[in-house]
Amino acid sequence: MNLPTIQKAVSSETQTSDPQKQHLLNLSGEDLTNWLVSKGHPKFRSGQILHWVFQRRVHAFSEMSDLPKSLREELEEHFHIYVTQSEATVTSPDGTDKLLVRLPDGGEVECVLLRDGNRRSICVSSQVGCAMGCVFCASGLDGVDRNLTQGEILEQMLLLQDRLPEQERLSHIVMMGMGEPLANLDRVLAALSVAKDPKGLGISPRRITISTVGLPPAIDRLRESSIPYNLAVSLHAPNDTLRSQLVPVNRKIGINAVLDAADRYFESSGRRLTFEYVLLGGVNDSDDEARELVHLLRKRNVLLNVIPYNPVQGLPYITPTKKSIADFRQILERGGVNVQFRQRKGSEIDAACGQLRRNRGKQSSSSQ
Ligand code: SAH
Repeated sequence: MNLPTIQKAVSSETQTSDPQKQHLLNLSGEDLTNWLVSKGHPKFRSGQILHWVFQRRVHAFSEMSDLPKSLREELEEHFHIYVTQSEATVTSPDGTDKLLVRLPDGGEVECVLLRDGNRRSICVSSQVGCAMGCVFCASGLDGVDRNLTQGEILEQMLLLQDRLPEQERLSHIVMMGMGEPLANLDRVLAALSVAKDPKGLGISPRRITISTVGLPPAIDRLRESSIPYNLAVSLHAPNDTLRSQLVPVNRKIGINAVLDAADRYFESSGRRLTFEYVLLGGVNDSDDEARELVHLLRKRNVLLNVIPYNPVQGLPYITPTKKSIADFRQILERGGVNVQFRQRKGSEIDAACGQLRRNRGKQSSSSQ
């Protein structure tokens, strides 16, 4: 059997960040230009610096060989490019890499690189922990600690890009790691704005997906930004009774309000919606639930992404049997829903976010 390999960070990667310095990745291109101009440097240096960081993948100002030495030193004095450390890397035989990233205040988040044909997709976290409390999910078991900054979100993308050979580029981003992206919308949008910028990572918004538990006012704000990101809504149940059990924030919102906000997003963006449905054995995988889902989704232009549950240690939920997955699928397909059963890629490396952090926490506390 091919087992995943776990590498711990080598000690040379360990560096403490100087709190006096600013995190360069927290700046917009305009902020950087303004800083340069205020220090008497030409505006075009901003583009050069971004090129070195995002395209040439350098980690130190000293490597930016077309900048005057004095500017490199000045930048070094004022900024960190990177403030996080890769704590552990888990590589799965199917080409999936998962990083556990340690933040300057000691918090940890996870991010994943998936290689699939020509695609190089990354799954990125938006918060340390999560406040949504979905009962089956590892990320929210201890609640939320804090929002990630723009720079911390971008840094995950860059650390994953570093894992690709020079000639390969990231092609897709999903904001589907730890946390609720719409509860940290300003910073998520700021980071994605750099990710889509040709001077940044140059990834089209059509290849970027924001996944949400379904917070209608924030979905409306995202719509008002008028950038055609893909929206994925984590549905997990076809009625309020069951959804409120599985996704506690639903109690105050209700499925209809979530669907209405998603419909508004579709109408103005023209982007086909995705609904996610984690299939939990004996909980939300019955024929009745499949039929109710058909009723809800049949007339909508959506893709339903069904994800067989990836078990989390200590939680009572199980992956459904092959037969109940097949039955569920048949009812949806016959009902005319555009459905995709997502492969559990990387499941052997705890690719459902929150699990690596949790399992490592257990290992280190049990070995103490
Ligand atoms: N908060 C956002 C994004 C993070 S969760 C959201 O709710 O969409 C990303 C997706 O992974 C969600 O659909 C979530 O329900 C799913 N997920 C979480 N834990 C899982 C697990 N153990 N197995 C399978 N999918 C899981």
